[in-house]
Amino acid sequence: MKRNRLFNHSRGRLAAYYAGVMGLILALCGLAVYEMTAHDHWRSLDQELTSLAGTLHDVLEPLLSEPGTLAPEVGAVIPNLCQETQPCPAVKSVHTHLLNASQQPGYYIRFFDLEGNLLAKAGETAPGLPFERLSTRYQPLRDRAGNRYHQVSLPLKNRWGQPWGYLKVGRSLTEYDGHLQAIQLFLALGLPITLVLVGIASWTLAGVAMEPVYRSYEQLRQFSADVAHELRTPISALQATVETTLGADHSLAEADGTLEIIQRQNRRLIHLIQDLLLLSRMELGGSALTPRTLCYLNDLVNDLAEEFASLALAAGLTLQGESAASEPVWVLGNEDHLYRLVGNLLSNALQHTPRGGTVTLRLKRGKQQAILQVEDTGIGIDPSEQERIFERFYRLDSARSRRTGGAGLGLAIARAIAQEHDGSLGVKSQPGRGSVFTLTLPLCQS
Ligand code: ADP
Repeated sequence: MKRNRLFNHSRGRLAAYYAGVMGLILALCGLAVYEMTAHDHWRSLDQELTSLAGTLHDVLEPLLSEPGTLAPEVGAVIPNLCQETQPCPAVKSVHTHLLNASQQPGYYIRFFDLEGNLLAKAGETAPGLPFERLSTRYQPLRDRAGNRYHQVSLPLKNRWGQPWGYLKVGRSLTEYDGHLQAIQLFLALGLPITLVLVGIASWTLAGVAMEPVYRSYEQLRQFSADVAHELRTPISALQATVETTLGADHSLAEADGTLEIIQRQNRRLIHLIQDLLLLSRMELGGSALTPRTLCYLNDLVNDLAEEFASLALAAGLTLQGESAASEPVWVLGNEDHLYRLVGNLLSNALQHTPRGGTVTLRLKRGKQQAILQVEDTGIGIDPSEQERIFERFYRLDSARSRRTGGAGLGLAIARAIAQEHDGSLGVKSQPGRGSVFTLTLPLCQS
């Protein structure tokens, strides 16, 4: 649908707001997920090292004697221990569940004396790791190559409770950093792609959201144009009449004729304005504005049949009323409005039925509804026009409608009245064979 610039601009802004808010929410969610994953990973890594270090500490302390010297029993607990002063033993596979961790790639165990000199090590230790007297729980260490390590450091005492040195259990953070980098990469690539998708979705959704607004705007614009058009015709006619009359020397009879023309155009204007006012009042919440009383539809149908009988006769048509007198049909509503509604349907039927045709006004009582039909054997309405004739100012044959004084508001008002009464008005028609307009209203059971 081709839209004007104002709507495209508003749609763009709406889409930008949507995309901006969604993007921000997604970015915050991504950040939160990243932080939580990093935190969880770090915590499990730290717990693992702390428990390993704690167990080793508890197992080793009763075996330690002279500060700075490792008893051979320590080698039995950590078989791959390589002392600084002795050649390293051949690498053995350890089956102890606890010590298996120290043999995993990236793990290491180191012993330092009280001065910070390295006494022994096991596992993968990178050269150049600094000696930290205290535990570096939240600050990873870096080796000379810049690789990060997490280390838990515990002071050791010998079996007599004297300070012996330090036990340091750690692991490389290469795997951890790689894992976080993979998440960062995923977020860095995923977020812009998601934002593009959110942008496209926002543009589409903004279009869907603006559709009804755009439609009512278009209807309003069309309505204003139609009103202006309808008002222009009688006003131009009035203006032309006044211009030709002004300054001319007219007889009394001619002046009367001129005034009659002015009166006719005036009536047309007043009629049009009254119709427009009625429509807008009903659209503003009509039912609250019009008083409702009990209406006896059987009488209403008889009255209308009587009123239109002479018109039908003049048009060479048969008008038949089929009111089921045995079934009283009551509805709650505004009798004047209902009279106007059915009168409009009858007048349309008479206008659009050629001589010799029949117009039937039928009243039935359904289970919950009163059903009122106006059927004619007239020109009929094309299926594609059957909904449009209820639009304001919509006329199939403008020339004929203008001749009969119609502005295309009759059926719009009729439907508005039906809706005002919580009912409905529809049409079924076959071109060339006739139409049936059906009004349904909720029955008043009392
Ligand atoms: P108007 O007041 O100008 O007649 P309406 O809203 O009453 O306008 O009707 C809209 C259009 O519907 C009319 O222009 C007419 O062409 C068509 N129409 C209404 N009733 C009938 C009918 N019974 N048979 C055929 N056409 C109809």
